Amino acid sequence: MSKTFDKLKPYLEKSMALMTARNLFELDDQTTAHFESEEYTSKVVGILSDEYMKSLINDDVHKLLGKLQSEKEQAQLTDTERAIVKELGKTYEQLESIPPEEYRDFNEYTSLATRKWAKAKKDNRYEDFAPYLKKIIEYKKKFAAYRAKGKKNPYEVLLGDFDECFMMKDLDLFFDKIKAEIVPLLQEVAKKAETVDKSYNYLTYDIQKQREFCRYLSGYVGFDFNRGIIGESAHPFTLQLHNHDVRITDKYLENNLESAMFSIIHESGHALYEMNIDDAITQTLVGGGASMGMHESQSRFYENVLGRSKAFWEPIYGKLVDTYPDNLKDISLDHFIKGINKAAPSLIRTEADELSYCIHIIVRYEIEKMIFNSDIDIEELPQIWNQKYQEYMGITPSTDSEGILQDTHWACGEFGYFPSYAIGTAIASQLYACMQDKMPIEEYLKAGNLTPIREFLRDNIHKYGAVKNTNQLLMDVTGEEFNADYYINYLKDKYRALYDL
Ligand code: ZN
Repeated sequence: MSKTFDKLKPYLEKSMALMTARNLFELDDQTTAHFESEEYTSKVVGILSDEYMKSLINDDVHKLLGKLQSEKEQAQLTDTERAIVKELGKTYEQLESIPPEEYRDFNEYTSLATRKWAKAKKDNRYEDFAPYLKKIIEYKKKFAAYRAKGKKNPYEVLLGDFDECFMMKDLDLFFDKIKAEIVPLLQEVAKKAETVDKSYNYLTYDIQKQREFCRYLSGYVGFDFNRGIIGESAHPFTLQLHNHDVRITDKYLENNLESAMFSIIHESGHALYEMNIDDAITQTLVGGGASMGMHESQSRFYENVLGRSKAFWEPIYGKLVDTYPDNLKDISLDHFIKGINKAAPSLIRTEADELSYCIHIIVRYEIEKMIFNSDIDIEELPQIWNQKYQEYMGITPSTDSEGILQDTHWACGEFGYFPSYAIGTAIASQLYACMQDKMPIEEYLKAGNLTPIREFLRDNIHKYGAVKNTNQLLMDVTGEEFNADYYINYLKDKYRALYDL
């Protein structure tokens, strides 16, 4: 027992309460509140954010942290406490060297920039957003320089915020493999996939029926309705207050059957992670997922690896057909499986199929590297973007709205975030390969029994929260650290079988 850690506890608890309150406002803002209320509510959110920062970054906590980082104190801590101290150390590294007024200005600025971005995207006017983007990049470069203390590459600093296990050299290697193996495969598959008729997906699907079927799907994969709620928002997301209150949202489109179904499976994958985190660590600094990449691995495992497989749909496809008999009575299960796995080069990341998805990430990663490692002219970015889409996908966006303006991340100041999506996707395949050795996954799916799969993920990944990092988790579950070959092989095997290549 460490007395120093006991002294730290009340500070951590207060910060957790402030963060929970802030999250609840954010949730309400995106699901229930009127659009016009944001200007007023954002003041409350600003004050809560400021208080959150002060509750952790202050002289008292600083002293306690310094003490707890000493060898003598470390020896008295449990694994969980050590992990909490490490997380607190990370928070300090991220925030301590940035002058508080600059940090506050930056947060205010990004909140404004996000609205300017939304308008520019709607109007298809990159030139209206460019000055904001330029200033956000200047802020990010300045903050990264404070933190790098002259030692580290600024983009490395930003990448480290999302996952300490994936630095530029790891990502370069990973993305080079995808470029060499998946870009040519996509061209090959796309030619064959052209013949798959997917027009059934764009017929009219009653929204209320979609809500009911999606709720069923969520429960089917294991969403616990005693610990969570499904809401609606413009973009589906997951937000947890703690492991007994996890909120997910979905978005229903009348003329697209797949959209809401795969979103709900995806968000349920995130939710299962949060719901299965141990009671002992929820509401602490290690009470969330291990990293963004690890979180995405769970959502994508459910959405793609399981959710787009024939075995998954075998027991429940009949129910889907019964829900929309007029639209689906002539669509066989095999036809439906080809439809949900139809791959083609595309322009919009969030609508991309499993095969082309990571290519969208490569474009963003390469541009972010250019932004932070060279003095690139902001005006030239749309051109660079379009050239990369032409090079990797063989298509060019005809407008900036479906090109460089499509994602909100840069307007929010989130540089270094995109690679997490690709890492998560690849981890999902590595876990799948390992689980196939340990259990008859396909048999379970065909029998409609997802419990052993869920329990395996709970016992080997979810319950640990952020006590272990990504590579520690992978090492303990699969016996090796991150290995992109599983992902490459998974895609090759899957698409070659689907399209007889
Ligand atoms: Zn996700």
